[in-house]
Amino acid sequence: MDQNFQEEFTQIIKFEPPLYKQRHQFVKDLVEKYKPKKVADLGCADCSLLWMLKFCSCIEVLAGLDICANVMKEKMHTLSPLPVDYLQPSERSLTITLHHGSVAHKDPCMLGFDLVTCIELIEHLDESELKKFPEVVFGFMAPSIVVISTPNSEFNPLLSRVMSYRHPDHKFEWSQAQFQNWAQEAARCYGYSVEFTGVGHPPAGMEKVGFCTQIGVFVRKYPQTGESVQSEKPTEAAYKTVFKAVYPSLKDEKYLQNAVISEVIFTAEIIKHRLMSIREEYSDDPERKSKFQPSMDCFSDYLGKLVVEKQMEPFISGNEVYIPLATIFSFPKVNRLCGTFEKLCKLIAGKVTLSSDGSAVMFSIEQEEN
Ligand code: SAH
Repeated sequence: MDQNFQEEFTQIIKFEPPLYKQRHQFVKDLVEKYKPKKVADLGCADCSLLWMLKFCSCIEVLAGLDICANVMKEKMHTLSPLPVDYLQPSERSLTITLHHGSVAHKDPCMLGFDLVTCIELIEHLDESELKKFPEVVFGFMAPSIVVISTPNSEFNPLLSRVMSYRHPDHKFEWSQAQFQNWAQEAARCYGYSVEFTGVGHPPAGMEKVGFCTQIGVFVRKYPQTGESVQSEKPTEAAYKTVFKAVYPSLKDEKYLQNAVISEVIFTAEIIKHRLMSIREEYSDDPERKSKFQPSMDCFSDYLGKLVVEKQMEPFISGNEVYIPLATIFSFPKVNRLCGTFEKLCKLIAGKVTLSSDGSAVMFSIEQEEN
């Protein structure tokens, strides 16, 4: 909703890309710089920033909080995993949660975050909420980084038809000095350093006006000690969880097992296919056919010199093709997925037909010959 509709519709100065996109891009750049694993967006509104952040591969936990459940629910389905996420589970894990509640209240679900974003939020807080905000965000949540953006009132005269505030729900709009004083005081109180920047450049010659959106980036000065993490943290929940999505990930054994089984069968099929076509070349001559044994060379060519040892050589015995697991394990994708040969054996046990000694994948060739 919001996204400072007045800003977008009434400005003389046209921002390209639109200002809300520039703000979100600013956060994305920050994520790419600091690589936080856990990110919370306070005042997440229609979840559009969260949606953008779910594609940042460093993030494993994303949480949104808003006082208005309806605005969050509008597009929260866009945060659910897609069929492709199940077909090709990612290597990272990702959990996205949305909470309904106020930044004026503490809830333990907001502990342990690396980055907390408050984009165009503080100007929506009334006096009592704003008073509690620093203690909740910097004192209680205490993430390594906090980013806060808010309108710069000095820019308003450059926006046509902005008579008072840029949005009817704004409780205040601050000048650069007002925002910086407030931010520096909060930083000093809770052990953060703060730097100011913004998005939406003023026109040439009017640089003193500052950015249309002013931004403070707060970095916690000291690492959190075990003690401060636990000190007077409430255990009671103040927020209501309205959405939770756990993305399929290869970190989850059941998805890893599926991926390994598919990859093992796929790899074994390729090798088998090659073996059969070599055998085919011998088939014109029944005498040659009966003597057929694939040579090391024909495989090493095909497999890029992966088959290096005698015991890794695939072979045909009677109506069965045997493809040693060691050969399959030497394929990069199988190797990367499993890490160790033992893990490969464990993941496919009972799921793929193996030779009696368990050292090779076994396929029957009877069907293809008939
Ligand atoms: N962050 C969004 C839009 C912010 S609009 C963006 O980047 O586009 C401000 C949002 O803050 C609104 O969705 C409003 O419902 C929410 N909000 C207002 N007061 C709040 C409070 N006390 N606690 C949590 N969210 C609040």
